[in-house]
Amino acid sequence: MPYLHAPEDLGEVVGEEPSYRVDQLHDWLYRTPVLHAEDMTNLPGRLRAQLAETLWPFKVEMEQESDRGTTKKWLFRAPDGAAIETVLMGYRRRATLCISSQAGCALACTFCATGQFGFERHLEAGEIVAQVAYARAFLRQIGMPGVPDRLTNVVFMGMGEPLANYARVREALRRMIEVMGMSARSITVSTVGVVPGINRLAEDPWPVYLAISLHAADDELRSSLVPINRRYPIEKLEEAAWNYFEKKGRRLSIEWTMMDGVNDTDDQARKLAAIAKRLRAHVNLIALNPTPLSEERSSSRLHIAEFARVLESLGVNVTIRDTRGKDIDAACGQLRIMAGNSPEAG
Ligand code: SAH
Repeated sequence: MPYLHAPEDLGEVVGEEPSYRVDQLHDWLYRTPVLHAEDMTNLPGRLRAQLAETLWPFKVEMEQESDRGTTKKWLFRAPDGAAIETVLMGYRRRATLCISSQAGCALACTFCATGQFGFERHLEAGEIVAQVAYARAFLRQIGMPGVPDRLTNVVFMGMGEPLANYARVREALRRMIEVMGMSARSITVSTVGVVPGINRLAEDPWPVYLAISLHAADDELRSSLVPINRRYPIEKLEEAAWNYFEKKGRRLSIEWTMMDGVNDTDDQARKLAAIAKRLRAHVNLIALNPTPLSEERSSSRLHIAEFARVLESLGVNVTIRDTRGKDIDAACGQLRIMAGNSPEAG
């Protein structure tokens, strides 16, 4: 099995080597990750050579950057051909990694590139954690201009629906928090509203942040944009989100992608405000990023600001999220597999 070798498999990996090698390797994988096995300086050459082949569960097929080197997108390719996209966004005081939980996505939200592409497969826990380990190693060893060398936040906002891949995402969270030592409050799980997944996450021990991708505040509109709303309508979603909030005491956030003439009306703002207030949630407005197959257009900047003002006047906390990496298709909803198997190529 390729890395990220599960912590409990390390004995097998070091083989005949003395048992303290397990601890050394554990540190290299989970505490102070490095990009290449040869950088694991206290391990014998033979072990390093063996690890060179199995360190990462994927090859780095493409690395792109934008925003003057402070946004980086990686396209990782698993041995079976599955593509995994990961985006690192550096700021003055933090570095946020946007990770994928599935190759593709089955939920088919109309405006999302990953949804337009369809579902390939679930990612394994090791493949999810490896994205985090890779970015940590990158920040430590190469870094970004003016950005801390430490990964401060991880968001499950790349490809896929994390709560539709619950068991593996759970194991990834466990390793990130209990093995890598990340704080639960540095992690955000973003969901389009898989209610049973929210309920299971509420029973897990870690108080990670939960983001709800709402996008529409009544069932008719929401079902037309986010098909899974037919199965888990807004009322059920609200119930699950409130339960999560009560159990964890973590402020919820609502993600709202601004689509011109679709969900940016005063009527939607009022309905959204009511939901946000019931849930005591913070609202993030995101300009729609264009995708090849979507008809929707983004609301104008001016209109987004106006929509935010309406929400504020109704007592809601709102942030207009900035967009990173648009030019390299690294922005929200743009992640998908470009190399030869995009929908229009197929
Ligand atoms: N499936 C999860 C996580 C992946 S999407 C979820 O839906 O939350 C991460 C965020 O990007 C979601 O809020 C999603 O609605 C938003 N998004 C998707 N497509 C987008 C697009 N074209 N422009 C802007 N945001 C988009």
